[in-house]
Amino acid sequence: AGTLANPATAALRAYDPGHDLPALRRRFGAAIAELGSNENPLGPSPRALEAMRAALADSWRYPDPRGAALKTALAQRLDVGDDRIALGNGSHELLMLLAQCFADPAHSIVFSQYGFAVFPIATAAAGAQPVRVPALPRGHASAPFGHDLDALAAAVRGDTRIVYLANPNNPTGTWFEDEALARFLARVPRDVLVVVDEAYHEYVDAPGLGSALRFADRHPNLVVTRTFSKAYALAGLRVGYLVAHASVVAVLERLRESFNVNHVALAGAEAALADRDHLASVRAFNGDERAWLREALAARGYAVLPSQTNFLLVDLARDASGFERHLFERGVIVRPMDGYGLGRTVRISIGSRAENQRLLDALP
Ligand code: PMP
Repeated sequence: AGTLANPATAALRAYDPGHDLPALRRRFGAAIAELGSNENPLGPSPRALEAMRAALADSWRYPDPRGAALKTALAQRLDVGDDRIALGNGSHELLMLLAQCFADPAHSIVFSQYGFAVFPIATAAAGAQPVRVPALPRGHASAPFGHDLDALAAAVRGDTRIVYLANPNNPTGTWFEDEALARFLARVPRDVLVVVDEAYHEYVDAPGLGSALRFADRHPNLVVTRTFSKAYALAGLRVGYLVAHASVVAVLERLRESFNVNHVALAGAEAALADRDHLASVRAFNGDERAWLREALAARGYAVLPSQTNFLLVDLARDASGFERHLFERGVIVRPMDGYGLGRTVRISIGSRAENQRLLDALP
């Protein structure tokens, strides 16, 4: 029956789920440092945990299919109308849904060579044609392996319906500044959706990098996706959202699964959003720890890419599998990026100080 599948799926690798954590826990016990999945070591806001516990009692009911309370809270925070927000079962679902709703086999979808892994998957699932644009070179001063916005704009064709950008990007950690995005938006025709994936937005502190949202009023073809999985530490709950023109949201609302965000997740996300102090401490911790770990790795001779995220990409300049195995034997999990074609690099999430220290102690 597999032969009946859309031929585009044959060329795809399935999403790499990383290591089998339950098996690792059995092997290493509590002494495991899981630095492979870009999770937030500080965990969610205590207020989110409390709200979710209270919400459990209503588990027999269907969730609010509109997600109205969370949408309103997000709309107020972002100063947009409620009708400009869509919620998803993680931002992953929204990235998929965008391709499903706006592209078909007659269309192409443009993304960068080392852009987020879901971009080619969403393209194939819609049966659309992928246009994979070469990344900036390894030796680039500010964004090695990053998005080449000039080349991406030049790759937009008459049949292009979507351009996927991630800012900052996973797995490279690299970013482009708001002004570069403004120039890009000016070059792209208005009938092409420009999707800016801002999954790591809350970790950003570089000058010149704010959010694509500041351009939303001028560019109705702009879509910004965000998530509660990273800085809000609700990865296991699966809540993402996007901001787009109301007419784009209306299309997504017609096609999405009616109860795509569950009741406990809605309650948790709303409470997490309200806890600004927790988010501020997550940001501060990640910024300090990222700088510290980066320096410590550099002092040991490792080439670390610039990052505005909660992970670092290390360019080993040689096959990463030996490096990964060495750390794995010591209970430290990192993620080689060979699935992206970045076979000589490894991605390391910012863990707790104890986990980061374990990584440093275990380095070959
Ligand atoms: N975008 C990027 C760039 C990511 O790294 C991730 C998580 N790996 C996602 C989107 C999807 O996150 P979620 O579905 O948990 O919101």
